[in-house]
Amino acid sequence: PRSVEVRPTWASVDEGALAHNLRTVQAHVGERCRVLAVVKADGYGHGAVESARAFVDAGAWGLAVSLVEEGVELRQHGVRAPVLVLSGVHPGSEDVIVHGALTPVVWSPQHFQLLTSAVRRSGAATLPVHIKIDTGMSRLGVLPEDLGALLDWYQAHAASELRIEGVMTHFACADDAEDALTSARQLERFQACLRVLGERRIHPSIRHVCNSAGLVRFSEAHLDMVRPGIALYGAGSSRAVELPELRMAMGVHSRLLGIRELPAGTAVSYGHRQVLDRPSRLGIVPVGYGDGYPRTMSGRAQMLIRGHRCPVVGNITMDLSMVDVTELPDAREGERVTLMGTQGRERIDLYELADWAQLIPYEVTCGLSKRVPRRPL
Ligand code: PLP
Repeated sequence: PRSVEVRPTWASVDEGALAHNLRTVQAHVGERCRVLAVVKADGYGHGAVESARAFVDAGAWGLAVSLVEEGVELRQHGVRAPVLVLSGVHPGSEDVIVHGALTPVVWSPQHFQLLTSAVRRSGAATLPVHIKIDTGMSRLGVLPEDLGALLDWYQAHAASELRIEGVMTHFACADDAEDALTSARQLERFQACLRVLGERRIHPSIRHVCNSAGLVRFSEAHLDMVRPGIALYGAGSSRAVELPELRMAMGVHSRLLGIRELPAGTAVSYGHRQVLDRPSRLGIVPVGYGDGYPRTMSGRAQMLIRGHRCPVVGNITMDLSMVDVTELPDAREGERVTLMGTQGRERIDLYELADWAQLIPYEVTCGLSKRVPRRPL
């Protein structure tokens, strides 16, 4: 059965903005540098398939996901561009990777072993892989000192089935505008690893390092490809590291479910943490932490109604929030409420929401739950 969609709370996704952001990044890095658009976690909450299509149509070379499942979802929806799977090769996923023509990121002999067997079983031609080097993130990847042994293993056992198309690393501190040194050191270690590959006559055609913050700050690290995520959705990891031309792709909207007239002294919502200091009109908004509108914003958040900022009153609940519309005597049931986005000359952006919630911008869009339908603008 088709799902019903009648609730008056939704996230708008501006596919024109996604395409614009891809082209903005491409212009920034130059035509010779490829762009790998990161669409993991359902396109940072924007919808993986729709985002992937917008990015590929706007010129992205390929896409990156975290999970094999996410890669399969793209393939099932007809996305044909290269899809990098960032989180490695878990035992049991290797046949799905080969069958889905996904491009795994690898860093251990076990990855090579699993994939080599899967390629042989499938009878497919060689599978491209990208080697990940841990130059300082201390998360995924082969340590530089272990790279030689890994390449020995590859050359002895896997070279006929697997082709090293790419080599990559990931910055730990690119989004810290005060710290350029850590990234410079990581890049140096990466360059040393490229020399180790070169000594073995392995010349991956795609060397890539930069996430969004890295590509904004370190042009010397653009190399053959960049891997932006957050920039493509219109933001930076913080205001300090973003390209000014980006356009925020997501808006979050709702409609007033009703309005309560309440006397001064009335305590509002769970815990009665807020008491009205004047006779007030409170709008009831059908959005709460069950939608990913974090409760930690209670007492700080605002919503836009008729182009005005209205404070959220009392604790945000699972499904509902209360907003003070006393200053808007004409506000009615059904009135449009903007939780993130623009109304008239007022705007609540992702950074402001993240500040209220004490989250990073990524958590706000990724955290918007499944029950908030995404609609094209
Ligand atoms: N590359 C890798 C390996 C990642 O894990 C991520 C996201 O976390 C990105 C690129 C994209 O990062 P950002 O959204 O900061 O551009």
